[in-house]
Amino acid sequence: MKTRVSLQELNTLAVPSVAAHYSRVSSKAELGIALRTAAEQQLPVLILGGGSNVILPPCFPGLVIHMAITGFQVIEEDAQHVWLRVGAGVVWQDLVEFCLSQGYQGLENLSLIPGTVGAAPIQNIGAYGVELNRVFHSLTAVHQQTLREEQFDREACEFSYRDSVFKNRLKDQYVITDVTLKLNKQPQLVVEYAPLKEALAQFAGGDIDARRVSEIVCAIRRSKLPDPGQIPNAGSFFKNPIVPLDQFRLLQRTYPDIAHFPVDETHVKLAAAWLLDEAGWKGHSDDGIGMHSKQALVLTNPGRRSGADIIAYGEKIQSDIKRRFGVDLEREPIAYFSTPCN
Ligand code: FAD
Ligand code: NAP
Repeated sequence: MKTRVSLQELNTLAVPSVAAHYSRVSSKAELGIALRTAAEQQLPVLILGGGSNVILPPCFPGLVIHMAITGFQVIEEDAQHVWLRVGAGVVWQDLVEFCLSQGYQGLENLSLIPGTVGAAPIQNIGAYGVELNRVFHSLTAVHQQTLREEQFDREACEFSYRDSVFKNRLKDQYVITDVTLKLNKQPQLVVEYAPLKEALAQFAGGDIDARRVSEIVCAIRRSKLPDPGQIPNAGSFFKNPIVPLDQFRLLQRTYPDIAHFPVDETHVKLAAAWLLDEAGWKGHSDDGIGMHSKQALVLTNPGRRSGADIIAYGEKIQSDIKRRFGVDLEREPIAYFSTPCN
């Protein structure tokens, strides 16, 4: 266990942050030792993967456990499917590449999402009409206090839109050590999103497979999303709000071109990026923090400002959107602000 370790390079918003204690764990045994030490010393614990969906405090007073358990294992296979168990510390994009190389299908739309496999169930990562939920089979997690290992199937994870039980009822209680996916051996492509459809139309008559879809998703993402290595960011800063149909109809009277997508018979998903653009936040910046000029939903932090400054800027936007449209925007990245270090 190390003390006073900078986390600025370990979070994609590049927020200046120091861990009072830090341990990088590469096995379940190391994880057990770290959790036992934290319990003995009564240290709060923060599990860190790729740091691409967190807002960190200037100093975390407890133990930051950096997840580095790796490994791929096919645990079952039949004619149509393969069940692949993957270590929580595997980089998500390495998993996508591995699956493409083996002909395992289902992750292509989720190409180039930053972060680790262990964090993917936390918010049921999603992109281009596919969520982790679609290929998820189960996960193994260790309870932070009892150190008991437990299995969670899809139902137990309570997945919903960019959400799971681990962001709610069981927040910060478990450490995920591996995730098992049930992947297809045959293509089951999902290509309804307009940018994907348009790009694929160029290949009419040609081969469209998972590899092609992945390449297109990567190309689109590279063209509009800022690379956190160059411009610090955490991807979408707000979730797309899901509103009752009645509220949507009222909004549509004032804003006939409001971007929206049906969810069910009584709810509609609004594109938060459209609301931000309409309200003038796209490309806006204020003393080192701003909303990206190519994708209004992405908050950037080129000034490497603090987590508190980022949250305050986000709150200014949230109240403006509420005032203009009567819509509540929910922040997506998870903020960790507790008692400061001594
Ligand atoms: P971290 O940020 O390290 O952690 C996130 C949360 O998960 C924290 O609460 C942490 O404590 C917890 N956690 C992490 N690992 C574990 C573990 N092993 N056990 C228990 N808890 C754990 N998200 C999408 O859904 N779709 C996208 O298309 C997408 N695009 C993005 C694009 C960019 C440029 C960026 C910067 C982010 C994007 N994101 C997207 C958000 C982010 O990449 C995902 O949420 C990702 O899954 C976070 O992984 P991470 O390892 O970085 O998690
Ligand atoms: P986009 O294609 O410009 O679309 C804008 C929004 O409209 C998206 O947020 C998407 O919702 C929604 N949308 C578009 N077509 C849809 C359809 N056919 N059905 C339902 N909803 C539709 O979005 P983008 O910003 O370039 O992002 C592309 C994808 O990558 C999206 O799925 C987005 O969620 C994902 N992404 C996520 C993050 C993150 O940090 N969470 C960052 C970058 C990109 P959804 O967001 O619900 O899909």
